[in-house]
Amino acid sequence: MGKKEEIGRIASERILVLYGQAKMTDDDELSHTYISMLREIAKHCRKHIPTHIKNSFCKDCGRMFSRTESSVRLSSSIGYVSVKCGHCGKERHIFYKH
Ligand SMILES: [Zn+2]
Repeated sequence: MGKKEEIGRIASERILVLYGQAKMTDDDELSHTYISMLREIAKHCRKHIPTHIKNSFCKDCGRMFSRTESSVRLSSSIGYVSVKCGHCGKERHIFYKH
């Protein structure tokens, strides 16, 4: 395995670990820190963040969408879920039909 592949593999692992920690904690600031770190690693190593992880946090403020603080609207005809971030109020669409 080359050095580049090795770094990529470690980066993917770190992303998953950080996401797991962000999900587990009740501490908002801590999960924000984990998400920031995860995004930094992805950017630095030019790794794609897995879709299910990407869809679970706000791209704008980097905080996890929580069930209580974000509002979810379903649009079945177009095939997306509209999620409004409870922290910065930014709305984003998560497409599930292609
Ligand atoms: Zn936000």
